[in-house]
Parts: sequence; C-alpha cells; structure tokens
Amino acid sequence: MKNLAMHWKILIGMVLGLLFGLLMKNLEQNGFVVDWIKPFGTIFINLLKMIAVPLIVVSLIVGLADLKDISKLSKLGSRTVLFYLCSTVVAVTIGLVLANLIKPGRYINDESRKSLIENFSVDASQKIELAVKAKNSGPLQPLIDIVPDNFFKALSDNGSMLQVIFFVILIGIGLILIEEKKSKPVVDFFKGLNDVIMKIIDIIMLFSPYGVFALMASLMVEIPDFSTLGALGIYGLTVLLGLFIMAFIFYPTLLMIFAKVNPIKFFKAIAPAQLLAFSTSSSAATLPVTMECVTDNLGVDEEVSSFVLPLGATVNMDGTSLYQAVAAIFIAQAMLPEALDLQTQLMIVVTATLASIGSAAVPSAGMVMLVIVLGQAGIPEAGLALIFAIDRPLDMCRTVVNVTSDSTIATIVAKSVGKLKTPQGF
Ligand code: ASP
Repeated sequence: MKNLAMHWKILIGMVLGLLFGLLMKNLEQNGFVVDWIKPFGTIFINLLKMIAVPLIVVSLIVGLADLKDISKLSKLGSRTVLFYLCSTVVAVTIGLVLANLIKPGRYINDESRKSLIENFSVDASQKIELAVKAKNSGPLQPLIDIVPDNFFKALSDNGSMLQVIFFVILIGIGLILIEEKKSKPVVDFFKGLNDVIMKIIDIIMLFSPYGVFALMASLMVEIPDFSTLGALGIYGLTVLLGLFIMAFIFYPTLLMIFAKVNPIKFFKAIAPAQLLAFSTSSSAATLPVTMECVTDNLGVDEEVSSFVLPLGATVNMDGTSLYQAVAAIFIAQAMLPEALDLQTQLMIVVTATLASIGSAAVPSAGMVMLVIVLGQAGIPEAGLALIFAIDRPLDMCRTVVNVTSDSTIATIVAKSVGKLKTPQGF
C-alpha cells in the first residue's frame, strides 16, 4: 500500500467501504456502522474543513502579494468570472436540452408519483423552508453578504468564504501598495505559514483512505433502498449523462483548446480531489486537496490557484446548475407539463445559473436552491419530494463535476496569464 498513488489508495478505501456497508446492511448491523464507523468519516470531513479557511487566507495573501501589480489582479479576476459564468450557462443549457429530449418525467406514473410525494414530503418541506429564508431577502442581499461587518466572525464560519476572500483581497492589495521594505516581512511570514498548512494537508491526506472508507460505509447503511426507486432511474440517468458530457467532453475540449493540456494527464493529476468530492459531496471540504492537486500536479502557479479555486468552490457549480435544470424540467413534466413553455425554460437558464452561484459548497445545497428555481418558473415546489430519494448519489456526482470545473478553469486562466508551469512527474 505504501508506494501506491494516492488516488488508488482512496479508491480502494471507497470500494472496501461500500462493500463493508453493504455487508453490514444485509446483516442488519446499521447501528454498529452509525455508532462506530461513521464518526471517523465525520472526523475526516472536519479535518478538511478545519484547514480550508486558514488555507484560503494564507495562500491568497501569498498569491496576491506575488502579483506585485493591481492590474494583474483585475485581469485575473475578470477572466475567471467570465469563464465561470460561461461554463455554468453551458451546463444549464446541456441539462435543459437533455431533459427535453429524454423527457424523464414521462416515466413517472400516477402511482409512483403519489407514493414518492407521500414518503418524502416531510423531508422536502424542510428544504423548502430553508429556501424560503434565502428567498425572503432583497435582490441585492447576495452583494451585501460579500462584505463582512466583522472579519473574525467571517473567519469562524465555513459558510462565509466569500466574505473571507473579500477581506483577504483587500489585505493583498494593501501589501502590493505599501513599500516593499514593509510588506516583505509580512509576506515572508505568510509564506512560511503556507508551507506549514500544506504539510498539514499532506498529513490529513494520509488518513483519507480510512476517512472515505467510513464515509462510504455509512452512506450505504443510510440511503434508501434503490429497488423501490425504479421510476426515478431515467431521471437519474439524464442527470448523469449531462454530468458525463461536462466532465469527459466539455472540459477536456476546453483544456486542449485553451491550455494545450492533455486531458488524461489532467484527470490523473486531479483524481484525488475528484474522489474526495465524490465521497464527501462537498466542494468546500475538498478545496484543500483541489488546491494541492492543481498546484503540485498540474503546475498552476499558486498566484492563480489561490485566487481562482476558493472563488470557484463558492460560486462556480456547473454540476449543480445542470442538475437543477434537469430536476426542474423533470418535476414540471411529472406534475405540471403545461408550465413548460420556451419562456419558462429561458427563465430556468437564468435562475439555475444564479441559484448555483448562491448554493453553498456543502452536501445537498443544490437541492435547497432548486426550490427557488422551481418557484420562479411556476413549477410546484412540493415536487421536490419526487427527487428527494436519489439526491445523495446525484449530489456526489455533481460535486465531482463542480470540482473538475474549478480545476479546468484554474488551468485555463493560468495558461492565459503565463502562469502554467510544466509539473514534475506528470
Ligand atoms: N454538494 C455540492 C457541492 O458542494 C453542492 C450541491 O450541488 O448540492 O459542490
């Protein structure tokens, strides 16, 4: 096991975890897994989240200070935002086209619709309540939310990453603008701290095969039985097909055209991050590993990765937006087909793009924001109960696409500003 590449170790941990969970489920030992195995998965996710905010702060300060010029920052920022926005619109469009062609809603008969709504309406209404809170604020609330009234409060909350990024960018700009004699000691301090944090991530990653084992085993005993969910199969496959097109056709094409990077090498480089995204369903928890893979294995300069990736983890969610488009159309087809005119579909492009930007990078956040997409399009929100049962596996897959998208765009932006080195060993 010692010389095996990290992604193989994680993959073995995942497969063994799945098998172990399945075995325990069959032996009716769910309680054992929940009490004695699941906590190690939770500890692993906590370790990753624990290091995420310090990593963003320190690496972003070091990255920005290295830019030495504010015009470079605005170039980097505008390219990043442009690519993030375009890739999200492409994702929603692919989702809409597939859902209209395949029409997954047709496969839901009256009986399965009734039983799904009956079984999952309580769970769904909890998500709807959460979404109502988000919706009740004014249109400019997301802008207000970026500016913290207290930086230390923002630091203490993993959900306030944009606020942290905002303040740290100001520190970076301050460091660029003051005399080098004064900024150098500060930057040197953060450079040292950055190395320490990178080492801590290496240490946490030693635990990753065991962490994903625990996560997969507990997932197996906790998700509903798939055999009763046949009617949702076509819907699930439509989402998966869309995610597949994004991951294996769209991003590789972008990489080849804009960054001249071989997609196979790219996938090999970011495999540990993708596997962790799959096991944790959270791009925020995966962020430290994504940063390490993109910087060390792909050769993206830290100046770029430290800015593009944390921003991407919070606002760029192609997998989530694609899923929201398919899910909205699926629910409409199953419950209110007449709601689906062209205008509504165009509205879904806009709202799903915005909703994915507003989704937190944590498990099932995309589903909460889907409520807003449904509400705006006049599709019954109670339809959320239809898709609840298979949300978790789809969440795992869309998180992989979210992380792949961030890594792709970091590589392309780095290439465009001459900051893509040829990495060693790849
Ligand atoms: N779990 C996703 C992420 O963290 C968000 C979502 O689609 O629910 O990227």
